Amino acid sequence: MYVAIDDTDSRSSMCTTFLLTEIIERSGLDLIGIPSLVRLNPSIPYKTRGNGALSARLGRGRGRSRRIGRFGNHDVMAFEQGDEAMEPGELLDLADDAVHDLAVLDDDNTNPGIVVSSGKLDEEFYWRAVRDVLEIREAEDFLSRSGCQYRKIKSGRGIIGAAAALSWPAEKRTYELIAYRYPHGESIQQSRKFSLAQQADQISGTFNNVDRENNYPAIFPRDRTPVIFGIRGRDPEALLTEGFDMVESWGLKQDRLLMYQSNQATDDHIIYGAAALSEMRSYMIRCRIASMPTVKMGSHYFVVATWNGQEIKLAAFEPTKQFRKVVGSLRPGDEVTAYGTYQEGAMNLEKIEINSLSSIYARSPPVCKDCGRKMKSHGRRDFRCHYCGSKTEMPAYMQIPRDIRTGPYDVPVIARRHLSRPFRMSADGRQE
Ligand code: ATP
Repeated sequence: MYVAIDDTDSRSSMCTTFLLTEIIERSGLDLIGIPSLVRLNPSIPYKTRGNGALSARLGRGRGRSRRIGRFGNHDVMAFEQGDEAMEPGELLDLADDAVHDLAVLDDDNTNPGIVVSSGKLDEEFYWRAVRDVLEIREAEDFLSRSGCQYRKIKSGRGIIGAAAALSWPAEKRTYELIAYRYPHGESIQQSRKFSLAQQADQISGTFNNVDRENNYPAIFPRDRTPVIFGIRGRDPEALLTEGFDMVESWGLKQDRLLMYQSNQATDDHIIYGAAALSEMRSYMIRCRIASMPTVKMGSHYFVVATWNGQEIKLAAFEPTKQFRKVVGSLRPGDEVTAYGTYQEGAMNLEKIEINSLSSIYARSPPVCKDCGRKMKSHGRRDFRCHYCGSKTEMPAYMQIPRDIRTGPYDVPVIARRHLSRPFRMSADGRQE
């Protein structure tokens, strides 16, 4: 039986991933397969942080198993196969109790949803939830048609995410090893956090651990939540061996450790080949720069591009830090492939590939054709040689070297979205 939940936390406490560990623990059942942490449309206004939803398959494990976590002093195993061990209604009640005990229900923006299903659901729903904007009613219709049981708490908006977590096909996936302490982890000094994040970066296949340029240890959450840290990687074996050993050696007080499979860093939210752009959706577009860059309020960079016969603003806001310099270096005629969310008429860039750079020339006084010396400018179309007295209207043109090269540019780790796949993720997952 699968259980999925979403929308249980607030910015100041709880995390839906921890609530899932509580449901696993209370059920006393085995995990069949690896639980899923599924990120959805990153521009949804109702989200608390990263618009993540969770699902897990629970039952009586059969066949091969391996350790994917540790709760207290017992290992958490994931089995390759399993048998049903709980009625859907019973699992729904158990999850409902856990949500009522732990979710932040007094926060207006917390509207939990729980779904129980005997199988995975049609992936079309996932693609809409990760790229589009859905109504609660659409999720209800979909779940009823799919024969699932579900429960809405307050407005129950969380059933959208829960249904999407169950319809994620998990074909393109990465992994995350998350450690918890309830209600929140011990406070760790910033300098120690930085050094631990650098150590995590040594685990094979991991990515987005640390931003050295901005002194940001990205494995640690910014808000107070039961999450102590999360280490992301492309290689589950490395996280479960090297990763496990490393985090145990850190000696942090942790109650639970669990590895998830995830759609993080897959670019699943990006729509390719769109004919028009809609608000709150993310796109990849090939376009040509049409203006000089401008800077607003001293820190947000914009440049106009033409795409599909229309003008569109590309934006690099302050949180994208050094990436803004890339936008600031673009010039009319440059050809780029831009990735980002279309919001309030501008494309909020997540990454950009510069395909070609235009040649830029500056006018300067020419060399005198008669005596070979440099002429002087006496106005826009008036160049004179002070040695032999020759005159000409024709300036010389000098090519100005560009301060940027063609190629891919990511925003720094500090500004990276969960779903965004960095260009610079090499075959073994390490950033170059
Ligand atoms: P956390 O990641 O810390 O669990 P969150 O950022 O996931 O928090 P939620 O509190 O889960 O945020 O709020 C997101 C809400 O938006 C959920 O109710 C979810 O069902 C809903 N939602 C997710 N995707 C869509 C979508 N595409 N259209 C409409 N609503 C959506």
